[in-house]
Amino acid sequence: MSEIGSSPQDEAPSPLLSLQKVRKSFGDNVVLRDVSLDVAEGECVVLIGSSGSGKSTLLRCINLLERVDDGVIRLDGEDITDPRVDADATRARIGIVFQSYNLFPHLSVLDNVMLAPVRVHGIDREVARADAKLMLERVGLADKANAHPDALSGGQQQRVAIARALVNKPLLMLLDEVTSALDPELVGEVLDLLKDLKSEGMTMVLNTHEMGFARRVADTVCFLDGGGIHEQGSPEAVLGSPAQERTRQFLRRLH
Ligand code: ADP
Ligand code: MG
Repeated sequence: MSEIGSSPQDEAPSPLLSLQKVRKSFGDNVVLRDVSLDVAEGECVVLIGSSGSGKSTLLRCINLLERVDDGVIRLDGEDITDPRVDADATRARIGIVFQSYNLFPHLSVLDNVMLAPVRVHGIDREVARADAKLMLERVGLADKANAHPDALSGGQQQRVAIARALVNKPLLMLLDEVTSALDPELVGEVLDLLKDLKSEGMTMVLNTHEMGFARRVADTVCFLDGGGIHEQGSPEAVLGSPAQERTRQFLRRLH
């Protein structure tokens, strides 16, 4: 089908996630001043910036854990900041994983992973159990299904937390410093899993202090500073030859 003026091939695909002029304050602390960002399907965007620059707040706004004061966030074309939108239904389409894995200590690993599908999505228990088992296999922890979280290493617990988010088949994964609480020798297994997810086409927005990982996996790096995205581009550009002095300062302090 072709129409006069434009054909589908002429148009860039619309982004899976789009933030337009997002603002968020806590009292008189303006955290996000004017953040605009497009994330394409399958893209991995890495947020970097000093502590307190608003990285977590940005992720929480996308997941509607925080309400934006102004601006628009579109997920798959839908304005999810519209107050009429069902926030729970929207959250169910977005996976979020935090630094602290927040697994339920009294539940087995398998029960942790199948909890939301059964309770939130109303999926039949046996179907949910089978899905959860597959997902644990996917993250390399099939043999831990019946263990309790405290019997697992931090890296394994974080992989369970990622499996728990993935089992809901999210459109998008948000990952907030998911390796920051881990002992250094356990960071690699979690980053390897994220790298695999990226290569399987998962759309991801994450923040991390692991610049080596950002270089290898990010399509786009955004440096947050002063309430906005101060510099944005490929990892080679932003991490390798940043244009902005403040980005250079930030990167120098990491070394
Ligand atoms: P980052 O993740 O980049 O370290 P955050 O998004 O956690 O930054 O925090 C950005 C700013 O917002 C900080 O000044 C922090 O104190 C403030 N902030 C974050 N969450 C809240 C909240 N729930 N209530 C009040 N202030 C908050
Ligand atoms: Mg944070």
